[in-house]
Formats: sequence, structure tokens, C-alpha cells
Amino acid sequence: MEQALNQASDPLFGTYNRTPAAMVRGKGAWAWDKNGNKWLDFGSGIAVNSLGHAHPRLVEAVRKQAGEIWHTSNLFEIEGQTRLAQRLVDATFADKVFFCNSGAEALEGCIKTARRYFYDADQPDRYEIITFEGAFHGRTLATIAAGGQQKYLEGFGPKASGFTQVPFGDHEALKAAIGPQTAAILVEPIQGEGGVRPVPDQCLRGLRELCDEHGILLIYDEVQTGVGRTGWLYAYEKSGAAPDLLATAKGLGGGFPIGAFLATEAVAAPMVPGTHGTTFGGNALAMSVGNAVLDVVLEDGFLDMVRQKAGRLRQRMAQIVDTYPDLVEAVYGEGLLSGFKAKVPAGQLVAAMHAEHLITIPAGANVIRILPPLNVEDAEIDEAMARVDRAFSTFQASA
Ligand code: PLP
Repeated sequence: MEQALNQASDPLFGTYNRTPAAMVRGKGAWAWDKNGNKWLDFGSGIAVNSLGHAHPRLVEAVRKQAGEIWHTSNLFEIEGQTRLAQRLVDATFADKVFFCNSGAEALEGCIKTARRYFYDADQPDRYEIITFEGAFHGRTLATIAAGGQQKYLEGFGPKASGFTQVPFGDHEALKAAIGPQTAAILVEPIQGEGGVRPVPDQCLRGLRELCDEHGILLIYDEVQTGVGRTGWLYAYEKSGAAPDLLATAKGLGGGFPIGAFLATEAVAAPMVPGTHGTTFGGNALAMSVGNAVLDVVLEDGFLDMVRQKAGRLRQRMAQIVDTYPDLVEAVYGEGLLSGFKAKVPAGQLVAAMHAEHLITIPAGANVIRILPPLNVEDAEIDEAMARVDRAFSTFQASA
């Protein structure tokens, strides 16, 4: 009986190792847990809360839309969807947008669209997608195959076929991997989960040239890097190398689950009625928030401000590296997608930061991600780094 009660008191799957703190309220870069502790949130729900907690314009958008209409299905026109799509089209390489609910779904959409493009061009055998070691594209069966990481694939049956992986930064291996079955190259402009590893601009341009040379598609996974996180609306803009397809999610909803995939006209053309769909994707409630996020992020000067904040953060992080050379060795990243490369287990340093009520997020390759909201204040950056300083000092003293 006791055992049954215990099980009943823990009804959730055991898939997460959670920090024992429950946030109940937030404002900007701050969150309060149920015990009244005030946390400085430099994790932003893993690069999701682009405008921090409870941004007044997002709250107002949800409140207004919630009293009007939430959901009609994609069997009807959805005005907010057309508006958000048009704004994304106007601001990017894309001509067409499909809305869904998450990053993995956006990637699935890109994969399907790339395959369908070649199917429609009478090349149905051209379905393979080349990806890079260290990539993370989501947790569905196709996206774990795309990411290629054994720890996510193990125990889930045969790996979905049609994905070939090459080492990160190995141009020769990449060229050798392209064959008659290749449909596309899929890449994160900065590997997020993989440890904040940027692809240099000249390499993105090189990928574009390689794709053009072989008549294959270039797909960017901007689920983590998109919507202003790097100081650009989408990270690829800095390189000038536009993709054919792009997946976006996380920051687009500012905390509301929204994903989307963007494509050029030609690439989207074969996706005719019946080829793809979703029940929830792009509903009126979600679109009201997505439009409110873009109202802020596309305002004149907003992205310049993100770049300025990033400069300040980078400088403060470099000071921490100078002060604690035994704990951290480098600062990685672009814009407000930044990280410390740790010399001791990153999880232990994240725990030390939690003890100072500072939220940061571990990533692969022993990196600690620092992901403040895009509208973070200078004083909050300084406060966060003061907490890192205290956390590292305590950690060092106890080591
Ligand atoms: N792609 C990238 C680059 C990501 O960082 C993530 C999530 O962390 C995903 C895809 C998957 O997104 P979601 O968890 O919303 O399915």
C-alpha cells in the first residue's frame, strides 16, 4: 500500500533529473520559487523566454486573444498565422512558412520537405541528409537519427535511415559523403546542446557553395540560434549564406510552444494539400504570442541592443576566466548564446551557481550555457557575473 502511495505521489515519467525548485512566478530575468527564493534566470528555459518572464506585451497579447478565439484547426484561415508568416518572409530568405509546435517538429518538416522536393523532381532516391557530429536536432525518431548521438538512439529500435554523419569541421569528409542519394546538408549555425560551437561564417558560405555545386539543399537548424539570440534575427544573416530551408522554434513563442519551418518558393512548392499537417500548429492563441514577440524583436534598435548586451556579457565572462583559470578556460558563443568551457565537470559548476540562485544550463563538451533574456539589463549581467564569481570562489575553496 505504502509503495502504491509513493508511486501515486510521483506520477511523472522519470526522464528528467530535475533541480529541486519549483518556479511559481517570474518577471523579466527573475523568477521566484515556491519557497520565496528569488532566482536570476540566465537559462531562459533553455533559450526560450526571449523576452524574459511575463513581458507585458506578451501577457497582453495572450489575454486579449484568450478572450476572442483560441483554436479553429488549419481547416480554416487563421489571420494571425498569415501575418506572422508574412513578417518572417519579409525579414528572411524565405517565401513560405509552415507553423508547428516544437523544434523537433520543425526539423521533421524540413526533412520531409527536402525529401519531397527531390521526389517531385523525379529523383526519389535522393533522400539522404548529411549532418554533423555533436549535432542536436530533437528527440523524435527521425531527429535522433539526424543528431546521430548514440546516447539518444540506444534502445529505440533501428535508427531511422537516410542520415549520414560527418565529423564537425571536416571538409574533406563532408565532400566525400556527398553522393547521388544526398538531398541536403543540415547544420546548426552554432551547435547549442553540442557545446556552443559556432560554424565560422566562411564555412557556412562554403556549405552554400558546396550545396549549389551539387544541386542539393542547405537546411539550417536555428531552433536555438534564431529570433535574435545571436544578435541577428537569424544567425545565418551574419555570414550572408542563406539556406533553402530553416527550422525555428524556442524564442519565437517567448515561452509559448511554437515552431515553424521556412522555405524558398521552389522548395515549398511540392508540399501540396495532404503532404503535411498538424492539428495545433499555428493556432490563433499561439500566433498572437508569436506576433507579439516579433513586435518587440523587430523594433528598430532591438537587435543592436542585444549585440551591445552581448559585448558586456562577453567582457565580464572573460574576466571570470582570468580569475578562475583552474575552473574555466574559455568563453564561447555569439550574442546572448554564450558559454564557459569548463575544466571541472560543468554540472558541478552549474550546481554551485544554483546555490547562488543563478540559473545556467549545461551543454555537451563540458560547457555551461549562459542564456539571459534578450532584453536583459546591464545591471542584471553584472549581478549574474557577481553570482558566478561567488559560486566559483566557494567551489574552489571547497575543492
Ligand atoms: N534543434 C536544436 C538546435 C535544439 O537546440 C533543440 C532543442 O534543444 C531542438 C532542435 C529540439 O527542439 P524541441 O525540444 O522544441 O523539440
